Amino acid sequence: MHLSASAATPTHCPYCALQCGMTLTPDASDAGVSVAGRADFPVNRGALCGKGQSAAAVLSPGVRLTTPLVRSAAGVLEPAGWEEALDAVAAGLSRTRTGHGADACAVFGGGGLTNEKAYALGKFARIVLGTSQIDYNGRFCMSSAAAAGQLAFGLDRGLPFPLEDVPRTGCVILVGSNLVETMPPAMRYLTELRENGGTLIVVDPRRTRTAEQADLHLAPRPGTDLALALGMLHLVVAEGRVDESYVRERTRGWEQARAGVMAHWPEYVERITGVPLPQLREAVRLFTEPEHAMVLTARGPEQQAKGTDTVGAWINLALATGRPGTPLSGYGCLTGQGNGQGGREHGQKADQLPGYRKLTDPAARAHVAEVWGVDPNSLPGPGRSAYELLDALGGDIRSLLVMASNPVVSAPRAAHVEERLRSLDFLAVADVVLSETAELADVVLPVTQWAEESGTTTNLEGRVLLRRRALTPPAGVRSDLDVLHGLAARLTPGLEKGFPVDPEEVFEELRRASSGGPADYAGISYDRLARGDALHWPCPDPAHEGTPRLFLDGFATQDGRARFAPVTHRPAAEEPDAEYPVYLTTGRVVAQYQSGAQTRRVAELNKAAPGPFVELHPRLAARLGIAEGDTVAVTSRRGRALAPARLTGSIRADTVFMPFHWPGAGRANTLTNPALDPTSRMPEFKVCAVRVAKAG
Ligand code: SF4
Repeated sequence: MHLSASAATPTHCPYCALQCGMTLTPDASDAGVSVAGRADFPVNRGALCGKGQSAAAVLSPGVRLTTPLVRSAAGVLEPAGWEEALDAVAAGLSRTRTGHGADACAVFGGGGLTNEKAYALGKFARIVLGTSQIDYNGRFCMSSAAAAGQLAFGLDRGLPFPLEDVPRTGCVILVGSNLVETMPPAMRYLTELRENGGTLIVVDPRRTRTAEQADLHLAPRPGTDLALALGMLHLVVAEGRVDESYVRERTRGWEQARAGVMAHWPEYVERITGVPLPQLREAVRLFTEPEHAMVLTARGPEQQAKGTDTVGAWINLALATGRPGTPLSGYGCLTGQGNGQGGREHGQKADQLPGYRKLTDPAARAHVAEVWGVDPNSLPGPGRSAYELLDALGGDIRSLLVMASNPVVSAPRAAHVEERLRSLDFLAVADVVLSETAELADVVLPVTQWAEESGTTTNLEGRVLLRRRALTPPAGVRSDLDVLHGLAARLTPGLEKGFPVDPEEVFEELRRASSGGPADYAGISYDRLARGDALHWPCPDPAHEGTPRLFLDGFATQDGRARFAPVTHRPAAEEPDAEYPVYLTTGRVVAQYQSGAQTRRVAELNKAAPGPFVELHPRLAARLGIAEGDTVAVTSRRGRALAPARLTGSIRADTVFMPFHWPGAGRANTLTNPALDPTSRMPEFKVCAVRVAKAG
């Protein structure tokens, strides 16, 4: 492996949405570099979690793909040259397009792709393949918060304020987030909040390591946090704590929302959620008494079949108490994947064009079509959402190109999704490792990684960041941009000119495509980012300093007012019953990341988190005759998973928890329910009904 000219390169972690700053320094290891946290980067101030510290391990040739693979006539993936592999992908997609039409080809992207790649992938799908069938795994991650944010504020950006505001507020309600396991360096902000005299309320069915640090932990039944928010707002009204002038001057829809709230008596909410009324009252007091306060949500409220309404209910609480769009206060979503935010702004989502424009908006279509040099009428309309797209594989979708995603492990009802993938006429996967999805492919394209290419990402604060190339990649790999260029040349000769392989060239086009849109990047450039400018979008021109704090002068709605959501509680799509009497909820552990495709290949992370487990309360375990370490069978209407029991008093006795990072017998997503939120189309990962027993 050869190093590029720069000896020590400042860049950012390849994993989660915190996008911690790190420096890569050449060394003699297999990876070729060592990693250190960057003290000068304000988000992590030098801290890294174990995943970030060990991120270089996946650069080692021993754990990654370094040559394309093509499935032979005997059905085996065999090494191939790049020309042969790209020819095979183009032929597979072409056959489908000719035989079944453009929409029979689909594209599935990832929230880890840089802004440039997400942009190029959306453009490739729409003008090279001509398909409407493109979506990405970010749909599984925070689309409900995005939908609720759009409805309430007219704009969705994870946090509308920088993390540095968190320690200076008076109270934070953290809903369905376990930062100690998901983004450890971010815990510092909550620790500082408490050191400054502020209070932390954590809402989570489990007493997680994050909840242990809270002043107040509310542990509702899975799928009932919408009712919890309504119950808190009921008390806010009953106790005269509504910020009447804020509601009058900065919002609309309060009367209708209030009617829904008043139907949720605290005693009724106590029965639904299992949260004792005194705790509910205390939470209201802690949240309303300080001058400033914030609500932060994550996957807990979002990954539900009513996720948009659930987030809407928490936003209602924030609005009624006058928080959003005021200093050191507000509502924010802690996005999850590395570029979960940017990935949903630039066109790989089924209904979007770059700049967070709507595919159904004629003006947006005209603007982007002009940048792309095509007729606006040639752009397809919106396609299916992620799970719906995966469910249609082998039906009217015959070929699929996957980039940076591993749905065999990460999709809900995963055994069904795996079976759908197997039923395709043609599957191509571009990835850095041979993921479980890549193992099913007809062609696997090995691509470059974060340290081997430049590109931008947008972190959970809407802060656009430059990742810099620090290493020359191994000879056998090419960048995703290179792949799209090569496929465009084969599928429609001449169109490859619109798919440059230089990330900065792609970004320059992205700037123009996003210009004037809600997520306006027109004023952001590689030069500015390299100089260290902290540029939060929107940043509409090169003289603009970016927008770290949104909504202070008004919301992004037509009249500048926020909207209350008219929401009421409803049960989860699947509640426990006699046959499946226990709740299952899923989540992450600190040493693994998402489907584990990368982190399961890192020895020290595997040592810390070697495999799946089922967390259950000792009372439930005793009733079922299960002891610590016993193999437990967890069965839902979708299938069965096996994993060792872990007994803990930190979980409700009516609920079991499984982390979702592993394939095979312990795959948690074999069990999860693909019931979709009607607005965001987010599946209900966070709650389903299961039967639990000691395995025979
Ligand atoms: Fe990387 Fe996230 Fe860990 Fe930071 S917290 S080092 S961004 S995985």
